[in-house]
This record gives sequence, structure tokens and C-alpha cells, in this order.
Amino acid sequence: MNAADSRRLARSLENLGYEPSADVDEADVIVLNTCVVRQSAEDKAIGRLSSLKSLKRQKPQLVINLMGCLVGVHGNPALQKRFPWVDVFSAPSDPQPLLDFLSRRQEADQAEQWRREIDVLLDEEFGVAVPGEQRSVSENLPVVLGCSHACAYCVIPLRRGRERSRDAQKILKDAKTFASQGVREIVLLGQIIDRYGLDLPDSPRLPGLLSLLSDIPEIKRLRFLTSHPNWMTDELITSVAELPKVMPHIEVPIQAGDDGILMAMRRGYTNQQYRELVAKLRDRIPGVSIATDIIVGFPGETEAAFQKTYDLLADLRLDVAHLARYSPRPGTYSARELPDDVSTEEKMRRFRLLEDLQENILRELNQAYLGKSASVLFEYRIKGRWYGRTPTNRIVFVDTEEDLAGQERQVKIEWTGPWSLVGSLEPTGGL
Ligand code: SAH
Repeated sequence: MNAADSRRLARSLENLGYEPSADVDEADVIVLNTCVVRQSAEDKAIGRLSSLKSLKRQKPQLVINLMGCLVGVHGNPALQKRFPWVDVFSAPSDPQPLLDFLSRRQEADQAEQWRREIDVLLDEEFGVAVPGEQRSVSENLPVVLGCSHACAYCVIPLRRGRERSRDAQKILKDAKTFASQGVREIVLLGQIIDRYGLDLPDSPRLPGLLSLLSDIPEIKRLRFLTSHPNWMTDELITSVAELPKVMPHIEVPIQAGDDGILMAMRRGYTNQQYRELVAKLRDRIPGVSIATDIIVGFPGETEAAFQKTYDLLADLRLDVAHLARYSPRPGTYSARELPDDVSTEEKMRRFRLLEDLQENILRELNQAYLGKSASVLFEYRIKGRWYGRTPTNRIVFVDTEEDLAGQERQVKIEWTGPWSLVGSLEPTGGL
């Protein structure tokens, strides 16, 4: 989400004549887009922010913009006191405060013209195009901003504000701009993306949006994340199974395997219900790959409770597990009401156990690709090899001189590891 927000802002600045700077010391404008979902992310943001202080002292005309979840949608006056070298504070997904600030710095007639340009840029939303620029083959496109769920541990609703689905026609317009700039895969983003459209009158829901976007000829692949188990409707599952451009890959976090912990987390489902959902997805979407998120060390997580998470991952053999160690976030229910009673060492131990388990599962799952042919959409070359992904989101490397950017090709898989596959191009054409 932050990557998409940053790109939108960067493109707006480029349209006003700014250029990316390779070196932070040479920049006239620095934007620090921040995440605070875990303590470690917040610490990193504060560290970077503090390091900008001396730069600002040397170069008073430098403009520093602090953006994102450290600021939040409601602003944060304490931050202004603590970091007086920041010129502009802005909420997640909101490029306007910086653009307005920069326009006010222009001479009067120039400022007038900038303000008109800024109005156009803000209206373009995520589709803001930089003339002549090629986009990445795969681009993220936010479609639901904010979140209105109340997971006990999660700070996102407090910082990104209530859930707002974006207008389907605006999303379509963004997607068409993407397509005209070389994008071949669009990843739709939302905190609970399977709730898309519920808050808008007469809006399509996610299946409708996916079929609208499927009609853009240049777009070859569509993905979406993140889903909440309770909003995974049969209709959505059917549309993933039936729309050829929608990839068979579902990101649907469980967070914990123990029912008591799930209840305390306020997730709204049980271990058994999640298992049933996974079985249903596998039954209805042939070859589906499933990703989950896990938090270890939530308050009150005993060894026995943790074992339920371990067993669940061992039984289900999911394709991805994003693992996190619990950290209390300011203002959340769990930070206010529940003691952070699992030690740092114990959180780390549980984290490592799951990490090892999942690595072994993936090594085995990926072996099934060996000798098979997979359809790969190639994105870019890195260290001499082409990087692409299968429909199931496996990373594939191919060593070739051919320019494969944006091409979907059949690849024969010749080597597999837990984190990637390596193969060679199958001959194209033929009879
Ligand atoms: N709505 C998204 C949330 C994205 S945050 C979703 O449901 O996936 C990404 C992940 O960070 C969450 O899924 C969760 O596993 C983790 N996370 C959120 N708050 C956390 C906290 N306080 N401590 C540790 N991990 C946390």
C-alpha cells in the first residue's frame, strides 16, 4: 500500500518537473513514507527521520515531508514538536499536502499554474502518468483505503482511517492508464479486499470489479490481497476459478491457530472454519496457492496455544506464511487491555520454529514443479537473469539474452528451492 502511495506521489512530482535523485544528500525534496504496523517498522521510520535533522540544518531550503501511518489520518501534533525539521505532515495515501506546500513556494503566476496542474494530478489518482515513462510489468493498485475492522492487535484502522472503497470507474481508468504504459499484471490492494464495494451504493463487489478489469486487453493477469476469511464468498471463489485472468492465488491470513487466541484477537472465525475454507478453496480453484499471515506471541499465547498454530501450518501445507512477532501498538485494544506476556526470546523461538517448518514445506511443495512446464509472466532482469512469476506466484528465474519484459511464456522447470524455481524457455509457436 505504501509502495503504491509513494509511486503516486513520485509521479505527481515528476509531472511538476522534479526528477528522482540517486543521493539523498542532493535531494531538494525528501518524502519519508512510514509504516507502523509493528514496533520494528516504527523504529526504522524514527531512525531515518532523526538522521535527516542534520541535513536540514545544512540545507534550510530542503523540504522534508513525513507521510503515512506515523502521521495517521487525524494528524499528530506531538510529532510536530518532536520533529521540528519536518516541513509537511501528510496522511497515508494523501499526496496533496506536499503538492500544495510546493506550489505555495512558487512565484505568484507560477503558483497559479501549478495549482491547476495539481488539481489534474489529484484527479488522476493512482493512474498519474509520467509522459514517456514505462511502468513496471506488475503494479499495485489500491482499491480499498483504510479499514473498519477491529482486530485487537492492529493499528491500521487508527492510522489509515475508516474503510473507503474507491469508485469502480476511477479504478478502471487507473488500470487503463497502467495498461497503456506497459503494465501487464495488476495487484488490487485493500486491508480486507473481499469487502470491496460494501460501503458504496450501487458499486460492483470484488467479482464484478475483477470482471470489469478482465476486459482490458493488455492486462494479462489480475491478483488481489488481502482477504479476510469471513468475507470470502462463494461468488468470489467462483470468479477466481472462472475468470481466466484472475490468478489462482489467495492471500487469506489466519493469524493464530488457537480458538481462544483467535477470539482475543477478535478475528471472528475458528481454526476449524479456516481449515474448511482452505479445503473449499482447494476444491473449487484447481491448483490454488494460498498464503497466510501469522502472529506469534500474542498476549496469553501458551505453549499449547502456539502448538495449534504449528499443527495448522504443518497440516495445511500452505504456499506462503508471512510470520510476525507480536508487538503492542499504541491505541489498540490489545496494547491497552492485554499484558504483553510472552518474552522476546520466546517469541523468537516460536518464530524460528514456524520459519523452519514452512521452509521445509516449501522445499517439498516446490519439488512438484520439477520437470513440469509453467506459464511465467516476466518482469525484469536482475543479475543477468530474468525474473518472473507463475500463476501460483512462484518466483522463476531464466537465463536468456531475449527481452522478456511483459511476456507470458512457458518455462520448463529444471531446479527448485524453497524460495524460487529456475528453468528454461520452451520453444514458442509450432503447429
Ligand atoms: N489487513 C491486512 C493487515 C496487513 S498488516 C491483513 O489482514 O492481512 C500485515 C500483517 O501484520 C498482519 O496480517 C499481521 O499478521 C501483522 N500484524 C499486524 N499488527 C501486528 C502487531 N501488532 N504485531 C505483530 N504483527 C502484526
